[in-house]
Amino acid sequence: MVSTFDRLHGRKTRFFFFELGDGNRPIENFSSSALVQQEPDASSFPSGGIRNTFEARGYTAWDPTSPAFIMESTSGKTLCIPTIFVSYTGETLDYKAPLLKALNELDQAAVPVCQYFDKNVTKVHATLGIEQEYFLIDIAMFNARPDIETTGRTVFGHIPAKGQQLEDHYFGSIPARAYAFMVEFEIEAFKLGIPLKTRHNEVAPSQFECAPVFEEINLAVDHNQLLMDVMDKVARRHNFKVLLHEKPYAGINGSGKHNNWSLTTNTGKNLLSPGNSPKTNLQFLTFFVNIIRAVYEHGDLMRASIASASNDHRLGANEAPPAIMSIFLGSQLSEVLDEIEKTVAKDKLSPEEKTQIKLNIGRIPEILLDNTDRNRTSPFAFTGNKFEFRAVGSSANSSSAMLVLNTIVANQLKEFAKEVDAMIAKDVKKDEAIMKVLRKYIVESKAIRFEGNGYSDEWVKEAKKRGLSNFTTTPPALDAYISKKSKELFKRNNIFTERELEARHDILLETYTKKIQIESRIVGTLSLNHIIPTAIKYQSDLINNVAGLKSLGLLADSYKTQLDIIKEISEHVLVIKEKTDSMVNERRLANKVDDAREKAIAYCDKVKPHFDEIRYHVDKLELLIDDTYWPLPKYREMLTVR
Ligand code: ADP
Ligand code: MG
Repeated sequence: MVSTFDRLHGRKTRFFFFELGDGNRPIENFSSSALVQQEPDASSFPSGGIRNTFEARGYTAWDPTSPAFIMESTSGKTLCIPTIFVSYTGETLDYKAPLLKALNELDQAAVPVCQYFDKNVTKVHATLGIEQEYFLIDIAMFNARPDIETTGRTVFGHIPAKGQQLEDHYFGSIPARAYAFMVEFEIEAFKLGIPLKTRHNEVAPSQFECAPVFEEINLAVDHNQLLMDVMDKVARRHNFKVLLHEKPYAGINGSGKHNNWSLTTNTGKNLLSPGNSPKTNLQFLTFFVNIIRAVYEHGDLMRASIASASNDHRLGANEAPPAIMSIFLGSQLSEVLDEIEKTVAKDKLSPEEKTQIKLNIGRIPEILLDNTDRNRTSPFAFTGNKFEFRAVGSSANSSSAMLVLNTIVANQLKEFAKEVDAMIAKDVKKDEAIMKVLRKYIVESKAIRFEGNGYSDEWVKEAKKRGLSNFTTTPPALDAYISKKSKELFKRNNIFTERELEARHDILLETYTKKIQIESRIVGTLSLNHIIPTAIKYQSDLINNVAGLKSLGLLADSYKTQLDIIKEISEHVLVIKEKTDSMVNERRLANKVDDAREKAIAYCDKVKPHFDEIRYHVDKLELLIDDTYWPLPKYREMLTVR
């Protein structure tokens, strides 16, 4: 038996279960300590300057809360062990360690709050159900598109005659070939313990979605990471490629990874599901309002947590959640909060007022039963018994968003308990103290609540008036990670030190720069080596044709169209060449910038705008040039799954 052993985060520490024994005879030997901690050479792991290559050491440590599993492939089996990854000096380098820390803080913060209502609660854990959207593309098309191959998206391509305007894909039946792929990856997923539950078509042609039953967050994140890998492997067997990019095709809906999130107690209570007594409903309201305030206080950090070069294409693209953070509650819960704001206003509540408030709160479950309103335009929506963070990108590791969400909620709950306890110490009754603090939060965090259309221009204006940020691109969105407020938040809650945050910020900027740099190179290569030569070749054909017609002595009318096209091609080719040169020049300038943030901004503001300008002319050429000459598969072909 030859087995290999891999770690989910400390990638590719691989060895055999053999050692040399007496007389150099191989013996099978495998000690458990090897599983618990390892020291991989991880010099190429991005560390944001935390480690130099000469001190490349880092440590991986087993995360026993996420089960080990065996990955099977045709060539062997690999034992995989979910691990955290820290540097030699103890700084976290991965996403798992800070997520685990955040979940621990959340537990610590939520239990005392639960105990205001139920002394039996001794543990609170967060739950997560991740909806995963993706596109399928035939492998042959994929291989013929260097842009998708290197960047995950098409940098050129004219919108097809029939895109998604009929919206007939969503409710249509799943194409047989896609179905076969789904069934197989579902089986492979089950073997690894991933509890997939649903599959369906999405809005765009050749776009699909799957979702598992929710799990404890750490597990749900590991399972989603694994799922993406499994999907990719299985797709190859079906001659498909899975596209997890947030926006593979311009003008066609993008993909997200909706993070359905809630909190559960050891007593089995979903804290975001109203109960059937005023007491449990007050508990529901407590968590509900605290979450709203947490998002209000740290909306910018939430935005930063989902920022990436690829998600920039989707956020605010009039089909995905906007880049402005807001919360959708539904009209009925909004009314409940408004009611509390009105009734709890006075310093001292009269007995009648108290009864009225209790009555109102007691009615919540009824209200929720017919609370069917949904808002697809909100980045963070309450959906009955959970919040749905919809703005997370389809290719993202959910840890990033989840460690932020759980940290801000933990921080908020601690603050809440402090305020309530201070009032109780001054002889205010517990329920009244809770109501008063909640009311204060409701008033303070009003600006983050938005029930309207998040895609509208009015919302952009309104949000500005409310003082909400609207970061449409990644580099400025990432600033929130290193603001004074965030640094204090992460430090206070033992998630990140300042040094770790700065390092992470640097890595994210660097990744952004590299992504745009790669896209820019592919735009340049395709323009100069594929598109322009093709255009010139076809143009030469036309010129020969015109020359031929002329030599026959035919009238100018007989080659007028050809001349027009010849001219048009020249015009487009000229602009493509000029813009490509200008883009390359901007890249050169950007590369001279030392500061990581300034460099990312240069790539964002100076290099990237060329992409669409060049694309416009390439897409025009696509419409002009003989189809048999065109070097790239077209949208119509790529978007059809047969
Ligand atoms: P909808 O389609 O209304 O969004 P679903 O029931 O299909 O809701 O759920 C979508 C995802 O939300 C699934 O992955 C599901 O497991 C998850 N989910 C449901 N309840 C919870 C919960 N309490 N905590 C976390 N995720 C949940
Ligand atoms: Mg959903």
